This record gives sequence, C-alpha cells and structure tokens, in this order.
Amino acid sequence: MARSPNMSGSRRLLARVRDTMAGAGTAQERLDGIATTIAADLVAEVCSIYVLRAGEILELFANTGLTPEAVHRTRLNIGEGLIGIIAQRARPIALTNVQDHPAYVYRPETGEERYHSLAGVPILRDGRVTGVLAVQNRTQRQYTEEELETLETIAMVVAEMIAGGGLISVDELQAIEGLTMLPVSVEGVRLNGGLAIGTAYRHERRISIDKLVADDTEAERIRFGGALGEMHGAIDRMLAASDVASGGEHREILETYRMFAEDAGWLARIHEAIETGLTAEAAVIKVRNDTRVRFRQQMDPYLRERLHDFEDLANRLLNHLAGDPETAPNSPETRDIILFARNMGPAELLDYDRAALRGLVLEEGSATTHVAIVAKALDIPVIGRAAEVMATVENNDIVVLDGDNAEVHVRPSEETLQSFSDTLNARQQRIAAYASLHDVPAETKDGLRLSLSINAGLFIDIQNMKDTGADGIGLYRTEIPFMESNDFPDVDRQAELYKRVIDESDGRPVIFRTLDVGGDKGLPYWKVDEGENPAMGWRAVRVALDRPVLLRHQFRALIRAAEGRDLSVMFPMITEVAEFDSLVAILNQELKTAEERNRKLPRLLKVGTMLEVPALAFQMKALLQRVDFVSVGSNDLFQFLFASDRGSPLLADRYDPLSPPALNLLGELVRQCDEAGKPISLCGEMASRPLDAMGLGGLGFRNLSMTPSAIGPVKAMIRSLSASDLKRYLDTLLQSHEHSLREKLREFAVDHGVMI
Ligand code: PEP
Ligand code: MG
Repeated sequence: MARSPNMSGSRRLLARVRDTMAGAGTAQERLDGIATTIAADLVAEVCSIYVLRAGEILELFANTGLTPEAVHRTRLNIGEGLIGIIAQRARPIALTNVQDHPAYVYRPETGEERYHSLAGVPILRDGRVTGVLAVQNRTQRQYTEEELETLETIAMVVAEMIAGGGLISVDELQAIEGLTMLPVSVEGVRLNGGLAIGTAYRHERRISIDKLVADDTEAERIRFGGALGEMHGAIDRMLAASDVASGGEHREILETYRMFAEDAGWLARIHEAIETGLTAEAAVIKVRNDTRVRFRQQMDPYLRERLHDFEDLANRLLNHLAGDPETAPNSPETRDIILFARNMGPAELLDYDRAALRGLVLEEGSATTHVAIVAKALDIPVIGRAAEVMATVENNDIVVLDGDNAEVHVRPSEETLQSFSDTLNARQQRIAAYASLHDVPAETKDGLRLSLSINAGLFIDIQNMKDTGADGIGLYRTEIPFMESNDFPDVDRQAELYKRVIDESDGRPVIFRTLDVGGDKGLPYWKVDEGENPAMGWRAVRVALDRPVLLRHQFRALIRAAEGRDLSVMFPMITEVAEFDSLVAILNQELKTAEERNRKLPRLLKVGTMLEVPALAFQMKALLQRVDFVSVGSNDLFQFLFASDRGSPLLADRYDPLSPPALNLLGELVRQCDEAGKPISLCGEMASRPLDAMGLGGLGFRNLSMTPSAIGPVKAMIRSLSASDLKRYLDTLLQSHEHSLREKLREFAVDHGVMI
C-alpha cells in the first residue's frame, strides 16, 4: 500500500506520544506532556484533554494554551458546549469558527475566546466515550480529514491511559462504567418467553492489548496479512464443514461472513490505521470502534444489523492476531450460560454449546432479528432492547432472566434468587413430565384424538418435531429461510432445502406455506414501499400474484423436492376465492411443465389456504369446494377482526381470542369445514397456549399447529380433558356478551382437573 507523507507524520506523532506515556512522572504529568506534544505537532495553539468523571461530567484534565487555572476547574455536562456535544454524539467535530455554532458555550475561566477554530474527537474505549480530545487555533483554520484521523488515533492511546487508573481512581472508573456490585434489574422487550438462571457471559470479549503503538509498521502489516489469511482459511473450513454437518441457514450466514471478511472498504480502513503507526491489533480495534459509531447512527435497520457481522469479524481477527483462534468467544467454560450481547448474528448464537445455553439478553435487537428467530427454535428465553445492559453485567455474574416479563436481574438478592429458583424447579418438573408423553397420543379422556404439529422454518425445528413427538409440520414458513439468505434463493437452492425438510421429516406430513413476505416480514435484500399499513399492504400472495415468477420458482422447487412423495402447499393471506383460483392455475402450469420435462410429480398433492383475512370467512362455501384443507392463522385473523395491531405491546391484552366474537367465528368455521368434510386446523400463537388450545378443542378443532415447546403442555392438557363436558359448557358461554371467557374457562379447567 502506498504511504502518504501524512501517514508517516502521524506515525511520528504517535511514537512521540508513546515515548511520553512511557516516560517518567505521574500520570497527570504525562498527560500534560501528551497535550503539549499534540499541540506542537499539529501546530495548534491549544490542546485540551477532557476526562469523563462520575456523574457524567467532563473535566478538563490537561491543557496547553488556555489559562492553566482552568485545568480541573472547567467541567461540562454531556451535551453541554461543543466538547459536551462531541461526547454526546461520540463523533468528531471540526469547525472553522466555533462562535457561529449554536452549542458554543463561553467559559471565562479558560480564556478561549481568542480561538476561532476547533477540532475535537471523542476518546472511546469499548465503544464508550471516556473523554474528549480537542485542539484549537486562533485563525479560522480548516482541519483536514487526516488531522482528525490522527487525533482519533491519539485519542485511542489516551483512552488506554485513562483506563489504566492513574488519572482517576479505579473505584470511580468502575462507577462510571456502571460496574457496581449491587443487584441491578434491567427491563427490555420480550423476544421469547421462559425463565432461566445462570451465569453471565459477555458475547463480546474485552480483548486487552498491551501494545497500541507499533515499533515497526512493516512488521505489523505482515502480521495483519497473516492473521487475515488465517481467518479466511478458518471461515472456509467452517463453510466446508457446514455442508456436511449443519443446516442451510448456517451456510448462508457463513457465506455472508466470508463476503464481509473481504470487504474492501473495511480492510482498507484497517490498513490505513496500521499506516498511521498503530499495531495491527490497535488498528482492528480502532476500525471496529469507528464502525460501531457509524452504524449506531444508521437508521436503516438492515444496515444496523450488519454491524455485528463486522464486530464478530474484528473479534475473530483479534483472536488470530493473538495467535489464539481457538479461544473464540463461543467457548466459555461456565455451564448454564446467559449470554449478553449488544447484538449478534444467528450463526454466532449457534456457535455456542446448545447444551450450556440458557438465555440471551440483547442491548439492541427486536422481534424480527434473525437471532431471535433462532433463539426461539432453541427454546431459550430472550429479551431485547435491554438498555445499557452491557455496562452493568460482568462475566460470571449470577443472572435471572425472566423472558415472560422481559426483565433480567443481574446479581439478584438471595430472596429474589430463591423465589425464581423455586419457580424454575416447578417448571422443570413439569417439563420432565411432558417428556414422558412423547410417545402417547394427544387423546382426551373421552377418547377424542387430536393431531398436534409444529410451526417451523429452521432445520433445527425438524429435530424439535422429533424431540417433542409432534405429528408433523402444520406450518412451514418458507419466508424464514428466505430471511436467512443474502439474496433470493434460486430454484436449486430452494429445492435442496425443501427436499431436506421432507427427507428429514421421516414421512411425517409437512405443510409448506408459500412466501409470506411483506408486513413485518421483510427481506433485507428486497426493498418495497411498505405503505402506511404494511400488515394490510402488498404482502404474501398479493406479491405472488403481481410477481408470479417468484411463486413459479417456489412451486418448481417444491415439485422437484417432493418427487414421487406427498406434497402439501398452503397460501397465506388469501382474501377472495378468485385469488386461490389464480394461484392454483400457476401451480397447475408448473406441474404441467414438470410433466413435460419428465420429472416425477408428487404422489399426492394437497392444496389449502390459510384463513387469516376476515373476508374469506364469508366465502366458505365456494372456498371449501376448491381447497383440500384450511388452516386458521389466528395471529392475523384476529388482528384484522379486532382492528388491533398484533405487534403492539399496548394492545397485546386488549382483545381476547377467548371471547364470544372470536370463538363464535372459529366455531362457525369448524362447523362449515366439518360439513364439507374438509380438515381445518389452527396454526396461530393461540394454539400454543394450553388454555386457549382447550377452548379450540371445545369448539371442535382436531388439528393444531404450534411452537415446538408447546407440544408437551398442550398434550398434557388434552389428555386431562373431557371434550364432551367442555363442549356442553362452552355452548352456554358462547351466547354471552362478555369481554372475555378466559376466567370462566380457567375455572372450568381447575374444577375438572385439566392441566393448563
Ligand atoms: C397467523 O397469522 O396466525 C400465522 C400463523 O401466520 P404468521 O404468524 O406467519 O403471519
Ligand atoms: Mg399470518
């Protein structure tokens, strides 16, 4: 790489700063020396170093050029004045005339009114601001990008000095970092329910590096090249292994890593940082910190999500540089891990030993992050948006993760821990009891047999189906593998995926639902105008009918995957019968083409529809003449029936599916399907809750599809129920106009010994 004169200049300055740091004197004297060195080197009249103190105060710690008495006297709040703004935004600022800036605050004790221009950068450590470094000039000077870069590099060195504890006490540093040893509870949003107790493990290890400034830049360049090559090799080996050992979703994700690992911009920034005189490790950390700050300010959720790919790569690179690639952050020694991360990719989660993983807490993350989908499949509690949690937790802290109430208790008190342990023990005993139901049928006390299937989308779910003893896959959400991919999977890739699902299901039925994208289920590589009401917008079969190529490819892949075996296909969001007809016409066309090409057709093809748009409930007669089966999508059906956003926490408990209008509608659907002799199932979240599932059984549903972890509890409920008693009772309740029948049904369950 060509080296510019500026880079060697910055290298000289860095070497001087290093010498000052290593020189004699107290930490304060050395910090003063650094300020003088920077001012001289950058031809600035002022150089100030502010350090963050407890209480979020920035204190002027070292200075050349301003009134000496200002040192330790000038104190600013975060967000106050230009220095406070730099700290608040964690971004550099360069101004030719500070007085013009609205945030400018004049401090008479500093005598800084003589200075017009200013360049300041945050002092960052582990992505957290620990101070501000700034230079000023009398003239209206325009600072260059290189000068700002140089300041950022020096700021990194100063950050290490602050963290060393010589300037402010270690106690105060810990207070600033929030590392109090007191119990702390942090609230977030529920991404997956459940309860777990374990020890904390921070996904992002704080890799401490001894040396920031390089003795020999050429040697660092070579070290970096070596580590990069090793890392590429390791990812390639993981990719090769993923073909043999794991699901398609792993491969997709690793391919993304491989792509990011070769990102020219990212690598160029690391190279540049090495050229400024940093060691290879320091250069990787600098670019990781810069990337973190840049991506944090990204509004685009997809780009924000990509941040953790780069973070993970940087950490992997640091491990390779340390010659210690095996101590990747996925091998903690502790058992019962509750994992804490700012955010992470799904593959990273799968890297951890599943047997040891008990829960996940994310500082960012929303319900649609891929890691939440994987965590759900792993059946561990997850909370997201746990603000500042990374600043409160340390490795090996005892943690209680209450996914149901979206709360994490770090270092809980004895009493808190005891009461959660009791609850957990009781739950575990119940789970053990469910395992014993694996091979027994879901049959009521009065001999009525139900079929319980799982909702799936990841390969892991197939194992879940076997482990729980479910009867099949009642809803395979094909959009999930699409969401895991970097681009639209082509016909071959889809066929391979669907074939594997059919193969591994060992003859148990699988219902493939065609793509339900749009609404809350976005594909990162496919941007559409979402409109004002995405859930009611251009989604699911509406997209398929307007862009039939996508659907044709999906049909082609499904036909190819089934070859000679049974195939069940279901459409999402059908609103009118004519849509079903049009989709079937496309499917028939694909079957015809497959036949012409002498492909083996499915042995038995069943085509059905989701019933999740209320309008379809008023076309049952015509619909039932066409479909082979119907599956009620209660998540969407009730959001449209009650005009109540399914994702809104404010509305979550406002309307109840166990209420007369909802149950009457469901009962009517069952009646019509029974009359027409067409099977009806329900595959929304409702089926996963034992009490709700009891209500469904009472209405006459014989097929339910649910999240895998619900199979045991729902089966236990069914085996303790007398369906005829419930039906009689329910018939009387359905005439009422109450807000909810939940309590009445709960009382019935308690009185009749039904396990809910
Ligand atoms: C539903 O709407 O109930 C359903 C099962 O589909 P999804 O949750 O995938 O929208
Ligand atoms: Mg739906």
